[in-house]
Amino acid sequence: MSSNISRTVGRHFLQIPGPTPLPDRILRAMDMPIIDHRGPEFARLAKRVLEGVKTIFKCSGPVIIYPSSGTGAWEAALVNTLSPGDRVLMFETGQFATLWKNMAVKLGLKPEFIESDWRIGADAKMIEARLRQDKNKEIKAVCVLHNETSTGCVSHPNEIRKALDAAGHPALLMVDTISSLASIDYRHDEWGVDVTVGGAQKGLMLPPGISFNAIGDKALATAKTAKLPKSFWAWEDIIAINKQGFFPYTPATTILYGLAESIEMLHEEGLDNVFARHDRLAEATRRAVRAWGLEILCRDPKYYSSTVTGVLLPEGHDADAFRKIALEHFNISYGTGLGRITGKVFRIGHLGDVNDLMILGALAGTEMALALARVPHKKGGVQAAMDYLVAEAASPARAAAE
Ligand code: PLP
Repeated sequence: MSSNISRTVGRHFLQIPGPTPLPDRILRAMDMPIIDHRGPEFARLAKRVLEGVKTIFKCSGPVIIYPSSGTGAWEAALVNTLSPGDRVLMFETGQFATLWKNMAVKLGLKPEFIESDWRIGADAKMIEARLRQDKNKEIKAVCVLHNETSTGCVSHPNEIRKALDAAGHPALLMVDTISSLASIDYRHDEWGVDVTVGGAQKGLMLPPGISFNAIGDKALATAKTAKLPKSFWAWEDIIAINKQGFFPYTPATTILYGLAESIEMLHEEGLDNVFARHDRLAEATRRAVRAWGLEILCRDPKYYSSTVTGVLLPEGHDADAFRKIALEHFNISYGTGLGRITGKVFRIGHLGDVNDLMILGALAGTEMALALARVPHKKGGVQAAMDYLVAEAASPARAAAE
C-alpha cells in the first residue's frame, strides 16, 4: 500500500527547552488504568507525590499540584497572595517575565518592570535599590524567574532574598522555576522564597499538564487576607482536602503516576548529580557555540543557564530559516526566538533526561545544519564539546561523585 506520509526514521532530537523527551521508565509508570480518584489507591498515590515533591522544591510547607500548565500556577501565585491594585516588582529578563507581568496587569495589579536587554538575569542590586526607595512599603511582592527560558539566563533567588532583607522590605518573594526545577540547584526554604511556581514538562521529565505552587508560611498567612478573586486556584480548599489524599477537582491521575516515578529517578541519580550533569551539558554546548564563532545570547557568565543556551545568528541570517533546515534535514527541533528576539536567536535545550552522547548528537546536527544553511561559522564545535566532556569524565571530582 502506498502512502504520501513519509516515515521519519530513528529518534527525533527534541532540543527545545521543554517539554522534554519522556524517559521510557516514566512512560511505563504512567501506563496504568484510570483509578477512582476518590478511592484509597488514589489517596496513597496522592500522599506519596504531595510529600515526595517537597524534596524536589526543598521545602517543608505545602505544595499544590494543579492540573494546568505553568501559566495557571503563575496566576495561582498572584491571586492567592495579592489584592487589587497591589504593586508588584518584576524584572524584565525576557519573554516569560513579560508574560507574567502582562498577566499581573490583567489581574488588576500594578506591576513595575525593571527593564533589561534580555541578556542577563534579574540583578539583585537593582532590585535592592528599588526596594530601598519604597519607603511606604507599597510593593507587596517581588516576582522573578529562576531561569528565563526565552533567553537562557538564570537569576539567583538567594541573592534576591538577601536584597529584600538588606532593604528591610517585607514584600513576598515569588520565584518561577518552570525551566529550572530538578535541573538547576534550587532551595525554597533555605533561600526564603515565599511562593515557588513549577511545571511538569521540563526537569521533571513529565508530559505537560500539571504545575505547582510551593508555599511558605508567610505566603500562607498573607493568603488569608488577599482579596483578588479566586476559585479554582484557591489554596485553602486544596490544602484542606489534600491532607486526606484527595483534590477538590479531578486530578491528572496518569501524570501523578509519572511524578512518583520522576521523583524516584531524580533521587536515584542524586539531585546534586542531576545539577552537575546539567551544568556539564550546558558548558559543552557553550564551548561548541564559541568554537563556531557564534555569540551566546546571555552576555554575563554569572547568569549562564544550565538548561538552555540562546544562540545569536549573525546579522542577515534568519534563525527560523536555520531551524527549518535543521528540522528538515536532521530531524532536530530547537526553541524559537520569542518576542523581540524572534528570528535572531535559536535556543538549544539541554535539560531533562539527557546525557553526554545525546547532547553531542544534537551539537553535531547543529554544526551540519549551520553548514547547510550557509551560516558563517568555524568548524570544530563538536570537537570542543567532546574535548570538554572527555576532560570532565576523567576528572577526579566526577569519579568521586560516581
Ligand atoms: N515560565 C517559564 C520560565 C516558562 O519557560 C514557561 C513555558 O515554557 C512558562 C512560564 C509558561 O508555562 P506553560 O507554557 O506551561 O503554561
